[in-house]
Amino acid sequence: MATQELKLMLPDIPNLHKLEVYKANGGYEMFRKALTMTPDEVTSEVKASGLRGRGGACFPTGLKWSFMPKNHNGPTYLAINGDESEPGSFKDRVIFEKNPHQLIEGILIANYAMGNAAGYIYIRGEYHRWVRCMQDAVDEAYSAGLVGEKMKETFGSDFSTEIYVHKGAGAYICGEETSLMNSIEGIRAYPRFKPPFPAQKGLWGQPTTVNNVETIATAPIILRMGGKEFSKIGAEGHSGTLLYGVSGHVNRPGVYELPTGLTLREIIYDVCRGVPGNKKVKAVIPGGSSMPVLSGDELDVRMDEESLKKVGSHIGTAGIMVMDEDTDLVKVLLRIARFYHHESCGQCTPCREGCGWMEKILKRMVAGNATVQDLDMLVTVADNIEGNTICALGDAAAWPVQGFVKKFRSEFEARVVKSRNFVPLNIVHGRRESVASIL
Ligand code: SF4
Repeated sequence: MATQELKLMLPDIPNLHKLEVYKANGGYEMFRKALTMTPDEVTSEVKASGLRGRGGACFPTGLKWSFMPKNHNGPTYLAINGDESEPGSFKDRVIFEKNPHQLIEGILIANYAMGNAAGYIYIRGEYHRWVRCMQDAVDEAYSAGLVGEKMKETFGSDFSTEIYVHKGAGAYICGEETSLMNSIEGIRAYPRFKPPFPAQKGLWGQPTTVNNVETIATAPIILRMGGKEFSKIGAEGHSGTLLYGVSGHVNRPGVYELPTGLTLREIIYDVCRGVPGNKKVKAVIPGGSSMPVLSGDELDVRMDEESLKKVGSHIGTAGIMVMDEDTDLVKVLLRIARFYHHESCGQCTPCREGCGWMEKILKRMVAGNATVQDLDMLVTVADNIEGNTICALGDAAAWPVQGFVKKFRSEFEARVVKSRNFVPLNIVHGRRESVASIL
């Protein structure tokens, strides 16, 4: 598979963030094209493209759009999730900076397809610079009559929609779709129970679709190429390009636009020029810190959702974190566990208590104070969090623990053996097995 960048989202056009440059390169023509189609035809085109959400859940986008009720008695909305607070994920901010008008055009297309009254671009609190980039672009689009009431005259159509940039307060949980909606509404960003799902009852109780920034910015590309042509890019069942954000132990970290379905080896060695000091890769997290880790022996796995599922992981946000042979994985897992503990909103007991317990156990392991029972307890706590919480943060906290211990158990066991207070299991349980046979 070719490892050249395929620049559909981030073409090499200087100053593309400026409206005149975007328009000179065909900008807003795909929205004009959408207006010549019926809203259902636009949605069908997105379905034909095979586009799946780029925010982590990988849900088919056209299908999601089709969940919105037709002839709803009241406004409907689009919330564009640019919270991007998952450690290891830093690709949406590149769209805000380099190609914000493609996102705006994507919002116009999506809102036309779903008949939405407005789109809310939700950007994480710490992204001051990117909030400014996006707000400047939205202001430019309003001044040019491309958004709002004036767009009726500009495009010669009855359709109009509004776009707002909404800055979050800076919490990971705000990236969860229901707490994101609460945050936009100005109330505490607690995740809501589902059902009702956002397409039934979302922003201000009205039907709402929540899509990731990259997902929506892909809509103009799909209309330009045609859904069928787009579906031929990349891996079957997970078409298109991804903005891979590669960090950690590689010579050339960064954001690369590449087709889905490349192997991790191709991305690490061909695109990112390998590992500093020619060290071996010990571990790779393929899609942001919550995705189950892969070992260095699994670099030939393809970066698409179906291939990653087969090895027990997921594509997530395609934020690839590479760790070389000298990395202390127990410390890495502690760092991840601390993050999720800090970010838990505290509504559900398994997440609120369990995240704290996992952090404490891992702290003991790193400090050399863990007992051998701690390792099993760590996994038991993670197993009891998974699937037992209101929102996906619980799973996001549990999966790294389960993944790291499963793939690198010996490293964790070695840490327990070395601990000062190590109590052999055979004594604790009164059994006769030797410690070696247990470990
Ligand atoms: Fe809050 Fe965690 Fe429950 Fe999500 S899983 S609602 S973050 S306590």
